[in-house]
Amino acid sequence: EHFLKGLPKVELHAHLNGSLGIKSLCDLGERLYGSSSEEFLKLCARFSQFEKNMDACFEKFAFVHELTSTRDGLRFATELAVRDFAEDNVQYVELRTTPKANENYSRRDYLQTVIDAIKEASETYPEITVKLLPSINRAEPVDVAEETVSLAVELAQAHPNLILGIDLSGNPGKGRFSDFAPILAQARDTGLKLAIHCAEIENPSEVKEMLQFGMSRCGHGTFLTPEDIEQLKQRNIAIECCLTSNIKSGTVPSLEEHHLKRIMEADAPKVICTDDSGVFDTTLTKEFLIAAETFGLTRQQCIDLTLEAVHHSFASEQEQIQMADRVGNYAVILA
Ligand code: 5GP
Repeated sequence: EHFLKGLPKVELHAHLNGSLGIKSLCDLGERLYGSSSEEFLKLCARFSQFEKNMDACFEKFAFVHELTSTRDGLRFATELAVRDFAEDNVQYVELRTTPKANENYSRRDYLQTVIDAIKEASETYPEITVKLLPSINRAEPVDVAEETVSLAVELAQAHPNLILGIDLSGNPGKGRFSDFAPILAQARDTGLKLAIHCAEIENPSEVKEMLQFGMSRCGHGTFLTPEDIEQLKQRNIAIECCLTSNIKSGTVPSLEEHHLKRIMEADAPKVICTDDSGVFDTTLTKEFLIAAETFGLTRQQCIDLTLEAVHHSFASEQEQIQMADRVGNYAVILA
């Protein structure tokens, strides 16, 4: 565990609002309301309920969204998420988040607030590099996705080293991929990379459409067939594997049956990720530990998985070289 904790890890699949654990939510409540306020005490009462029933994961999304429904809440939350990844020795994280609009902010304000917070956090936590992938929530109407992509394209011009791609996520049972494909294609044409949640539930015709359309990385890939996995291998598209998330959300029955095993056996590209470290009460260190214990991974395999993540990140070549160096130096020191 000590070895995995110290490893300068690379996180490629992390949803911002899902990445706040109980402790960070407490810190967020304290910053927003002050530790002696009535609001804060009410929050603590709700936290303790969550702690008793850790598996009520999805209720937590709505709960976190309440706390990040103001600009200050969103700004602090972003900083706390970066803090938590830095504390876990994650050297690079691509944070994804769905721009939201409410009475406190527009979708543009949302993204700008997150961008500003990431820039601030990068000064406080210089040991971690943070990138941003605005998310399309497929459960929302297509015109929202259009707005998200046009904002992402515009803001990526202003912050080319920060906004690197677009994520397609949200309830996989809702919305049709084909409705979002034209907008995703537009984003891709401007140079943004695409990270697409694919085969999260069983839907072979949609998986076919998605593979035909193409993507830079595949989120989850739980229900990919051996032929699909072979195709991703041939095209060097990495599958983002999130073990605890898949178990807790019930798409995979047990760790032993997790598709990471099949992907490793096929020698297809893969990365180990947290998905929602807060909601699922995990860290990237824990995910590596679980993968290592379940599938008997050696230290060298954990290092190789980290290097694989480096190469499938959307970072520049120069940044990838620096990341790989950090991993290499760590491995040498411990050898
Ligand atoms: P946010 O975009 O608000 O920062 O992060 C939380 C959101 O990410 C959720 O409301 C949901 O739309 C998306 N999300 C988080 N985890 C998952 C997941 O495992 N699968 C899918 N499809 N979407 C997810």
